Amino acid sequence: MPVNVELVLDARAELGESPVWDDRRQRLLFVDILLGHVHEFDPATGHDRIFEVGQPVGSVALAAAGDWVLAARDGFFRLNPESGAVTLIAHVEMDLAGNRMNDGAVDARGRFWAGTMASVGGRDRGTLYRLDPDGSVQRMLAPVSTSNGIDWSPDSQLMYYVDTPLSRIDAFNFDLATGDISFRRTFANIPTASGYPDGLVVDAEGFIWVGLWQGGALHRYSPNGRLLGVVNLPVSLVTKCAFGGPNLDDLYITTARIGVDEVKQRDVVAGGVFLVKPGVCGRRANRYGAVAPGR
Ligand code: CA
Repeated sequence: MPVNVELVLDARAELGESPVWDDRRQRLLFVDILLGHVHEFDPATGHDRIFEVGQPVGSVALAAAGDWVLAARDGFFRLNPESGAVTLIAHVEMDLAGNRMNDGAVDARGRFWAGTMASVGGRDRGTLYRLDPDGSVQRMLAPVSTSNGIDWSPDSQLMYYVDTPLSRIDAFNFDLATGDISFRRTFANIPTASGYPDGLVVDAEGFIWVGLWQGGALHRYSPNGRLLGVVNLPVSLVTKCAFGGPNLDDLYITTARIGVDEVKQRDVVAGGVFLVKPGVCGRRANRYGAVAPGR
């Protein structure tokens, strides 16, 4: 896919992740995980506001009231974008000191899914959780190593999920009414020469976009698992993308610069947020605690 790649924010994020478009505010949210930062970037002005969470934060998502929810080191939190106040919803894995929460997303019935990982190495120490609108937390899948992904097919029949060291994208049958997942299977294998699968998002046509950590690219897969497109980035640590803009046809991409001194010179803009116009549209991000229209 020969598209123009534009650096829209030279954020120098250590570990830029979890981009999500806030359609009410018309801004791009993303996190810098290890610094515990939530960014709110306004493409119209170029202004980038930074919220301090006070602990590592793996992902941010929208909530029904217009505020945001976080999957952070110690569990699930709310962040008020007006005051910057961070309040606890539910603790997760407080007994596992080396673990933190990682990528997350909200399903069409307003449940926030996010998993955990060991912050330093170690396989099979994580779990995928589901935060329900009533604030209760359900354990959905264990063990996992580095919980990533997550998104759903447009009809909510499938959930796509990534456990990064497995080098593949998995699919589950998804029961929208109950929030249950079943019948895990491989959706697409990704050769390690292409990098490691990280965050993913499903576009309006039901195609799957995944960031390639150490792969310097995004891959786009058809719903039957065929690799149909590659967008090459000028940095190697590509984490995740999100559709945004007034028409949801701008594709924003987060990246990282962890260990950048050891990688290539081309990574001078590593940690930046990039923009491409792929010619397809995304879907509005779901909100925690809200039922999506038509659902
Ligand atoms: Ca990730």
